[in-house]
Amino acid sequence: MEIKKKDIRALTKEQLRNFFEENGDKAFRGNQVYEWLWQKSAHSFEDMTNISLKTRQMLEDSFVINHIRVNQMQRSEDGTIKNAVRLHDDLIVESVLIPTATRTTACVSSQVGCSLDCKFCATARLKRMRNLNPDEIYDQVVAIDNESRLYHDRPLSNIVFMGMGEPLMNYNNVLKAIDKITSDEGLGMSPKRIVVSTSGVPKMIKKMADDGVKFKLAVSLHSAIDEVRTSIMPFNATFPLASLRDALEYWYAKTKNRITYEYVVWDGINDKRKDVDALVEFCKFAPSKVNLIEYNPIDDGIFQQANSKAIDMYVDILEKNNITVTVRRSRGKDIDAACGQLANKT
Ligand code: SAH
Repeated sequence: MEIKKKDIRALTKEQLRNFFEENGDKAFRGNQVYEWLWQKSAHSFEDMTNISLKTRQMLEDSFVINHIRVNQMQRSEDGTIKNAVRLHDDLIVESVLIPTATRTTACVSSQVGCSLDCKFCATARLKRMRNLNPDEIYDQVVAIDNESRLYHDRPLSNIVFMGMGEPLMNYNNVLKAIDKITSDEGLGMSPKRIVVSTSGVPKMIKKMADDGVKFKLAVSLHSAIDEVRTSIMPFNATFPLASLRDALEYWYAKTKNRITYEYVVWDGINDKRKDVDALVEFCKFAPSKVNLIEYNPIDDGIFQQANSKAIDMYVDILEKNNITVTVRRSRGKDIDAACGQLANKT
């Protein structure tokens, strides 16, 4: 019977050091291999040229490196790049590079599919298959960093967890990936340049606050009226707005970090004065910013972006209430790379 080899990147540095000691080598060898695995993103043991052949063979016999592979890359006319990423078990997730004049942002996935059922999101049509491992999240970032250097002559500057999946339902692995991304032994990026976007899982928002995380939080709100929110994001029935707000108050009290809300205004769904008033009321407890994002159609026949008069009303009333508001245009729509369009169509 063939013994299933272990994914070497599931080991901590300490465990790797122990492995070498137990096998009659120096613990220091563990540091070298660790550097190859993370900082240098080696795809195979063969690449580890300062490690002896014999040791490489020993690693080969015991472990695998489950590196992701960019299966297909699509480039939009606006410079956006979408990667279809193949995982070691042949499942596919997507990640996106979004270039602007001043920054390059990676939008990465945290799960294969999604267990939530937001009616306006293409990913919701794929059921959740599994969580991504920390190294699979890390690899997406490295792939986009490389593409950013290649096509835009600069390194990646920001990361948003707004791809497929609900990051707070894969919290431990997302946290481990961010640890690697921000560590000097990984990419050394500042956590302030990372945004984790959630549909709002109250218990996990409180846990994040307790863990003292340094990255930023965005909440996909879309409505501050329970009845409306439940109709478009059914899991709001389990985690109603009062519990979300309670968790966010806790988050703010602990972190003093401003909260960003993602919000799409749809025709006939949340485009009335009462919807804006409810949003203002909801935001009151902490400094907030509202990103009004453009709706990216997913051929559902129900949702339609509200007209500009409704958007202007939102901007006007939010500003009068001292709530920062931005109107975001979508990017990469021609290649189905925009928010909510990731569904492995290819
Ligand atoms: N599950 C997380 C992250 C993935 S969704 C979350 O809900 O935040 C990333 C963002 O895209 C969310 O704000 C989501 O509400 C938004 N979104 C989903 N479908 C969309 C669509 N069709 N058009 C525009 N935004 C969409």
